[in-house]
Amino acid sequence: MGRPPGVLAVQGDFEKHLDAFAALGRADALEVRSQEDLEKVGSLVIPGGESTTVGLLLERFGLGEAIQERAKSGMPIWGTCMGMILLAKDIEGLDQFRLGLLDITVRRNAFGAQVHSFEDEVKFKGMATPVTGVFIRAPIVVRTGKGVEELADYEGKIVAVRQGNRLGTSFHPELTGDNRIHEWFLGFEN
Ligand code: GLN
Repeated sequence: MGRPPGVLAVQGDFEKHLDAFAALGRADALEVRSQEDLEKVGSLVIPGGESTTVGLLLERFGLGEAIQERAKSGMPIWGTCMGMILLAKDIEGLDQFRLGLLDITVRRNAFGAQVHSFEDEVKFKGMATPVTGVFIRAPIVVRTGKGVEELADYEGKIVAVRQGNRLGTSFHPELTGDNRIHEWFLGFEN
């Protein structure tokens, strides 16, 4: 086993990701809050949370730049919900901080004000049975660039993508107890 997986733990829903990795035998997964922490991990999950807040913090402490560098040298990275927003190249209509590591445009809070939160089955490419998509003020992908593969859609809206060893999901697999996507992510080449 190589370096442990990391979960960005600046703000938001990071603990459940650590639990999911522990359930898969990676109880050594680390919380990442600094550039020093980042050096210790072999992959990184950016969890759900508030993208404007976390974006500001990433920018202020130089951690955003360090994540970009590690990703460019091959570190697998996965964003769930807010994490996918922060990974996007473009955020529709907004110029808030983003890492720009997935060639996609996202629309924040895309399921509208009335539907803050819901869950439903989502067919996920490569998975034998659907996953449960927990959507919490979730974004969708409204543009995919070259080299971006769609992994899942929900009612015609793209809700999961992959570009090389970078992954984005609109929903929260860490809240379901079904750790298949975490397991898959652990196998990404580093
Ligand atoms: N709506 C949040 C944002 O735009 C994301 C919500 C989440 O991560 N659950 O940052």
